[in-house]
Amino acid sequence: MPELPEVETIRCELEPLLAGRTIVSAEVGDPRLTRPRAPGEVAGELEGERVSTLGRRGKYLLIRFESGNTLVVHLRMSGSLRHRQASDDQLSYQRARLALDDGSELVYRDMRRFGTWRLLDPDELESYLDARVGPEPLASDFSAELLRGRLAGRRTALKAALLDQRTLAGLGNIYVDEALWSARLHPATAAGSLSRQATLRLHGAIREALALGIARQGATLRDYALPDGEAGSMQNEFRVYGRKGEPCERCGAPIAKTKIAGRGTWFCPRCQRRRI
Ligand SMILES: [Zn+2]
Repeated sequence: MPELPEVETIRCELEPLLAGRTIVSAEVGDPRLTRPRAPGEVAGELEGERVSTLGRRGKYLLIRFESGNTLVVHLRMSGSLRHRQASDDQLSYQRARLALDDGSELVYRDMRRFGTWRLLDPDELESYLDARVGPEPLASDFSAELLRGRLAGRRTALKAALLDQRTLAGLGNIYVDEALWSARLHPATAAGSLSRQATLRLHGAIREALALGIARQGATLRDYALPDGEAGSMQNEFRVYGRKGEPCERCGAPIAKTKIAGRGTWFCPRCQRRRI
């Protein structure tokens, strides 16, 4: 599932291709994508919209139009976006298509169909996002103190707290496991129990893991690809994720796998000891 670095990579790649372009025709073939609104209605409103900029909030991609409206795209499990020269050949699992005025098109694909498209007007956007996502971990005002406040008083496992998008925006299974390994914190540690020092380490580790993910253009495991179809390379940098039984880079102990918050969780049992 695409996380913050994957969505940010898509945003960076697509922005120069889409900014200033007008949607000449829109097709949405899957009613699940736009519900509760009818796909034809949303497609009709998209036609004629001119893209101004592309933004991101957490894992949401924001395609902003000059009209003030925003198409809020969430890729969920298996959604992806492909930009190409317009073609009559449908891609596999193609669910929607935006034809642009320069002869190119943006194709949305989604095998599992959990992705969402919401076309929101300016006064809907902020409340829509604020109800769903907490602070941006890469924003300049995201401090260790702020992180400490988000975790304070919470007895839930640290991993579960970090996967909750209202704690922080954009983290998912991969980057949480990688950040916890860097910060030497056990994923089942009670979220509210971190010392100031541990919070400081976690704050730095989260930002480093996300920045590395962006620098490597995301992790391609299954469905994620750049808009031109190329793969990211973050999967080559994993320290713990998916590496059960392999030696920890820091201490040599074999990486363990467990389940926390219903998700496969990888960690080093020696340098991520559970203290509480
Ligand atoms: Zn270790």
